[in-house]
Amino acid sequence: MRASLIAILIVLAPAPLAAKDKPPRPAAARDHTAWAFEHSDVPVDPDFRFGRLANGMRYVVRHNSTPAGTGIVRMDVNAGSLDESQQEQGFAHFVEHMAFNGSTRVPEGQMIPLLEREGLAFGADTNASTGFDRTLYKLDLPRSDPALLDTALMLMRETASNLTISQAAISRERGVVLAEMRDRNSWALRNAIATTQFFYPGARYAERFPIGTTETLNAANAETLRAFYEREYVPAHVTLVVVGDFDVAAVEAGIVRHFGDWAAKPADPQPDAGPIKPKDRDRAAVYLDPALAERITVQRNGKYQDEPDSLAQRREGLLRSIGYDIVNRRLQRLSRGAEPPFRGAGFGTGDVFEAARSTRLIIDTVDGKWRAGLDAAGREYRRALTYGFEPGEVAEQVIQVRAALTNGAASAGTRSNAVLTQLALKLIDDELVPATPKSGLARFEAYAAQITPDAVLAAMKREALALDKPLIRFQGRQAPEGGAAALRETWRGAMHAKIARETKAAAAQFAYTDFGAPGTVVSDTRTPGLAIREVRFANGVMLNLKKTDLETDRVRVTLGIDGGDMLGTRANPLASEMVPYLDEGGLALHSRDDLDSILAGRTVGFGLSRGEASFDSRVATTPRDLELQLQLLTALMTAPGYRPEGEVQYRQQINNYFAQFRATPGSALQADLGGILSNNDPRFSLQKVEDYRQLTYARLQKDIGDRLAHGAIEVGVVGDIDEDRTIALVAATLGALPARESAFRAYGDQPPRLFTSDRSARVIRHTGPADQALLRITWPTRDDADPVEALALEMLERVMRVELTDQLREALGKAYSPSASSSLSHEWKGYGVFAVNASVDVSEVTATRAAIRQVVGELRAAPVSEDILRRARQPLVEGLLNALKNNGGWMALVDHAQTQPDQIVRFEKAKERVLALTPEDVQAMAKRYLAPDAGLEVLVLPEGVPVPKG
Ligand SMILES: [Zn+2]
Repeated sequence: MRASLIAILIVLAPAPLAAKDKPPRPAAARDHTAWAFEHSDVPVDPDFRFGRLANGMRYVVRHNSTPAGTGIVRMDVNAGSLDESQQEQGFAHFVEHMAFNGSTRVPEGQMIPLLEREGLAFGADTNASTGFDRTLYKLDLPRSDPALLDTALMLMRETASNLTISQAAISRERGVVLAEMRDRNSWALRNAIATTQFFYPGARYAERFPIGTTETLNAANAETLRAFYEREYVPAHVTLVVVGDFDVAAVEAGIVRHFGDWAAKPADPQPDAGPIKPKDRDRAAVYLDPALAERITVQRNGKYQDEPDSLAQRREGLLRSIGYDIVNRRLQRLSRGAEPPFRGAGFGTGDVFEAARSTRLIIDTVDGKWRAGLDAAGREYRRALTYGFEPGEVAEQVIQVRAALTNGAASAGTRSNAVLTQLALKLIDDELVPATPKSGLARFEAYAAQITPDAVLAAMKREALALDKPLIRFQGRQAPEGGAAALRETWRGAMHAKIARETKAAAAQFAYTDFGAPGTVVSDTRTPGLAIREVRFANGVMLNLKKTDLETDRVRVTLGIDGGDMLGTRANPLASEMVPYLDEGGLALHSRDDLDSILAGRTVGFGLSRGEASFDSRVATTPRDLELQLQLLTALMTAPGYRPEGEVQYRQQINNYFAQFRATPGSALQADLGGILSNNDPRFSLQKVEDYRQLTYARLQKDIGDRLAHGAIEVGVVGDIDEDRTIALVAATLGALPARESAFRAYGDQPPRLFTSDRSARVIRHTGPADQALLRITWPTRDDADPVEALALEMLERVMRVELTDQLREALGKAYSPSASSSLSHEWKGYGVFAVNASVDVSEVTATRAAIRQVVGELRAAPVSEDILRRARQPLVEGLLNALKNNGGWMALVDHAQTQPDQIVRFEKAKERVLALTPEDVQAMAKRYLAPDAGLEVLVLPEGVPVPKG
């Protein structure tokens, strides 16, 4: 029910790490202020309104009422780190930060509070992102009233041209930007940079990661930042997107009112991301980091193919993607064997902006097994290009595409604001014409018969670059025997080995369609108010239903089975550990991989996760596939396959986890915190790696088999359903099983979960960068039994976040994303924690601790102001008001409607209770729970760094 209203993140990792990602394609070569549909035969969806002001600024507006009464505003600035000179590195991102630090109409420090008072929650850096080629500003409006829209447009205009960028504000914000740089300096980012520099040496893009350099950020001043801002923030670089429950004409009038007087200015074309040389080949490199799992990337670069969106290009793209998908399907099948040659592998081609295209084969292997993996994947690549594809493989992909397009067309009328906003941004960023899902499906059906194995192979070959004498990069923990030369030698071997044609067995039929005589309904009622239908079958299975019209053609299903982490004991703490890998073992009659072929084109989910006291499945399907979905979940419970390949997957993951969890402060804390807080109670502590390696399906079966066979079951179904048909489908599947326990167990025999009485400060170590420290203070609180106190603690959490952001981030400039959290256990009597986290520089630990203590002390000493309370409260209130405008919100009440009816009552009373909370109530929570000597401090420091005094 917590609404995260503004979306996130600065794009730092470049696309080349994924096999098929297409980095966004700026239109430097073309006229980038033209709309792609103006020169395309793809028919644009007429429900979008497109416009261009006289000054050159463009906009996209669309009325949409899912969720009702809300809206989304985005400002896309076609300027990013590629636009920076050598001296300006990091300026695009720095300017993005300055958007929140003062403008003509909004003084420094006022924008975030202003938005919070309107109900827009603000985390650290959460409403803008900066990438290589663009900067995006984001406001998600909890209400679509004209006044709030006007405020949003006003703020966007301030950002577009009216930022103050004062020297004093820059000096204050610099610490935050440097803190962000320090926080983001991880093994993953360093590897991403090294990867880019190896594959694209000398390219501008490889030298322009958006975060910039310490030197350039320290040198930034009002004059130089302003120069970047004034040069790049010009009307022709800017597109505004507004989607929501608005009157389109009124939105257009508002855009004209706010942006019409922005003076036109010349717009520099974005510099090329290259140069990238097509002839660059036959190089190999080894990159080592103890945190890195072993991976080999085989790549060739080639000329950029300029392919504007058109109907013919879409057909070509469809053929290509089917080709890559078949290769990837073959690689996936290999990775799922009982003795797989690699953990995973992928093949694809992507654009590097407009500078080049790259074809790559990526192979993830178990440490030390790179040779077998590279050889096997190389052979698969050659097999595909030599012999092409089988009709059955193409058919499997065509079925998938058809299902996706059919589902898309069926639900087109209830697409969310977020989905439609993404379509608008794809038009702007990638020059993809937004067409209606219905027209896309019709075009596909008209063309489907021409999708033959030969056509697919030919199209793939027109794009994919031959991987002969390629660039090969190894990354991992230990150097490959024989070094770079051995990599090239192994690849050469794979390219000359004898290969055979692919043979693919026809997919079997799904075997689990009959579970015996359907169960009978023994009780069928409806809750007052929210009208959730509650059904109980004779075998004890509980079913909760809610039909909504919020998402046409979509059905959400949850399944809860008694068990979960409560099965873990001090003697056997890992009883449920392998449950998330249950599905990897397939079913008794179908392997996990066979299921992918059998279920091709069906919209179903598969698998269980571990909850505190239940095993859970949360899946999305359609009315057409609801029956199959229920059969599949029933089969997973009654006939899990426990095949050895699933154990292999689990062990690979565990080994990798243990090899890297010390590598960042965050993952080191996560690993150790459970043990520290519980006084090393094995049920809540990380165990020795051997204990995990020794886990098997045989043990899992012994530990959870009884729960799967007898444990209580509660099913939730929400969405576009026929209630009676749904009841009949559940009756024929879960309802047909032998009798179950009638209630979820209380697990009263489990020893209680205790918070350690040892409150001495602890220091743990990470192996990451020498300047990164993480300070965490945890206080014990209580369980969630008291609804009013639970809300009061949630308010304390939100007030704390506002205060920490104001103090640590804005006033001291020390931390990039200080956080606060309150978590109250539903299952463990008396147990709950409140915590504060701050990532800081090692040299600032003492000052940060003092600042946190001061914030906590003030919250205990006196009530906060009404304004602080409102800033913390309004996003929570708006979240409650909007909670039942999507099926996810409904499901939060439906999934446990019969076993936790109090959750529904709590929801119904929540708004009233939140509004009744006073600053004194929040202070009372701080006084009760956040006493200085009650908190337990854990400090995460780099290896070898002395513990700071104080
Ligand atoms: Zn940032």
